[in-house]
Amino acid sequence: MNQSSSITNPLREGINARGAPEPCVLVIFGATGDLTKRKLVPALYNLAHEGQLPASFAIVGFARSERDEAAFRAELCDWVKKKSRFSPVNDSVLDAMASRIFFQQGRYDDPQAYQALASRLNQIDKDLGTAWHRLFYIATPPSEFPVISEQLGANGLVTRPQPGSTEPPLQRVIVEKPFGHSLETARELNAVLTRVFDERQILRIDHYLGKETVQNIMVLRFANEIFEPLWNAKYVDHVQITVAESLGVEGRGGYYEGAGAMRDMLQNHMMQLLALVAMEPPTSLEPEGIRDEKVKVLRAIRPIASDRACGCSLRGQYARGSMMGQEVPGYLDEKGVARDSLTETYVALKLHIDNWRWAGVPFYLRTGKRLPKQTAEIAIQFKAPPAVLFAAQSNRRAATTLQPNVLVLRIQPDEGISIRMNAKVPGTALNIQPVKMDFDYGGTFGARSPDAYERLLFDAINGDSTLFIRGDETEHAWSIVDAVLQGWKNDPQGAPAYPYESGTWGPPEADEFIRRDGREWRRT
Ligand code: NDP
Repeated sequence: MNQSSSITNPLREGINARGAPEPCVLVIFGATGDLTKRKLVPALYNLAHEGQLPASFAIVGFARSERDEAAFRAELCDWVKKKSRFSPVNDSVLDAMASRIFFQQGRYDDPQAYQALASRLNQIDKDLGTAWHRLFYIATPPSEFPVISEQLGANGLVTRPQPGSTEPPLQRVIVEKPFGHSLETARELNAVLTRVFDERQILRIDHYLGKETVQNIMVLRFANEIFEPLWNAKYVDHVQITVAESLGVEGRGGYYEGAGAMRDMLQNHMMQLLALVAMEPPTSLEPEGIRDEKVKVLRAIRPIASDRACGCSLRGQYARGSMMGQEVPGYLDEKGVARDSLTETYVALKLHIDNWRWAGVPFYLRTGKRLPKQTAEIAIQFKAPPAVLFAAQSNRRAATTLQPNVLVLRIQPDEGISIRMNAKVPGTALNIQPVKMDFDYGGTFGARSPDAYERLLFDAINGDSTLFIRGDETEHAWSIVDAVLQGWKNDPQGAPAYPYESGTWGPPEADEFIRRDGREWRRT
């Protein structure tokens, strides 16, 4: 460790305009796992590459598996080379980072392992001057979240801020999804975490919030004068939020059986998108101001009585089919899946937000696996203009092609924004055709957007909780999702898992679900 402290640190070069961040040690629990290798450490390298990590920064991996420290470092460096958005990597930056990666073996429930961790952290504090600034990242399966939190508290690794203190907390904890399995378990987990940490110290991560377009929702809405006056029930017909995946469960059938699309996608990512698109302007960009506004929206969602759940939701399950010319099995044939499983790989849900701005505007949410492509978007569909003027023309085609305006926020891939509007087709006849105005991030700003984890880790290291989810947000989102799940459970006949062929846009019944409101799903 002394050796590492004496290294001239190239990470310091190029500290950006946001200023040098505080020294910090990141402790990752579950450091032998997929998330650490594929996402976290490459994202940390990217930050280092751009000079955005603190000059004094170390990573301590904690896991049950035995690992030789040198081999652990080498393995992570290999992953950085494979996954970093910078290619080739800068060897001196990577070497400097690697020299400050440590490994602590131990069971997650063993107090001695935490005592050993504490000694190691104290030594790093002495060597690097990190002064108790610690970020604990719980990147294990959720079964371990409570015990890790409890052991951190019981072994003196966490200092709670004094009540009313405005000082930034010395330690924070990052908790991965899934955040609970139901409203009840989310409440239990919140209770466990808040026994050890103050709410200000808890960073519940949802990587969707680290995506550029998601952050851009607020900029689009509140930094442009033209949209906000139209952003309400007077002008908006409905909103569609779509998260489509082309992958199936990819060998994780056992996990997915206990989750399903509602828990895996809708409760977290999609409810966050809904909250951001529907919230009122916050009074400031302070984290609590923004999170308060999101909570107000979630609280205003019309409660769903369990016996009404089947009417406002629909579930589906992929059957065998063809993806990119390859035959793929149906969900019921996947390993780890019960032959009579009702777990949804597709869900469509209609919600209403009962407030002044959104009264009467349905929000349609849909997500599914094995859909034709990987995409996520929010589409704001405006009301159709009065057709009187063009309908009055003798040219009947003009009237039939008059389509409502749609504003689409593309979250992935090809992050960007487009607006559909009507334009006259050149020529002597009055033909009207929908056209698209398109802004795409890559084309306009050139550089590849940072990975979501990069942004979120940067904020966590700098103590900014804006893009993390507060405990009450998760509970409100769960209360909606729980009611639907309960309704399905109570009335499985009323909520069959409609099969859909892999590679199609969900079950035909889903088209009927929206068509009975006189609307259509967008073909993204
Ligand atoms: P892994 O399954 O790879 O597990 C991470 C580590 O946790 C393992 O290497 C293992 O380390 C330890 N572990 C695994 N199973 C158990 C168990 N039953 N009991 C105790 N420890 C166990 O998970 P990921 O890295 O994929 O994900 C970590 C967390 O991040 C999860 O909560 C996941 O939902 C979330 N997440 C992951 C994403 C990803 O891309 N992978 C994306 C979004 C969220 P050891 O045995 O050495 O202690």
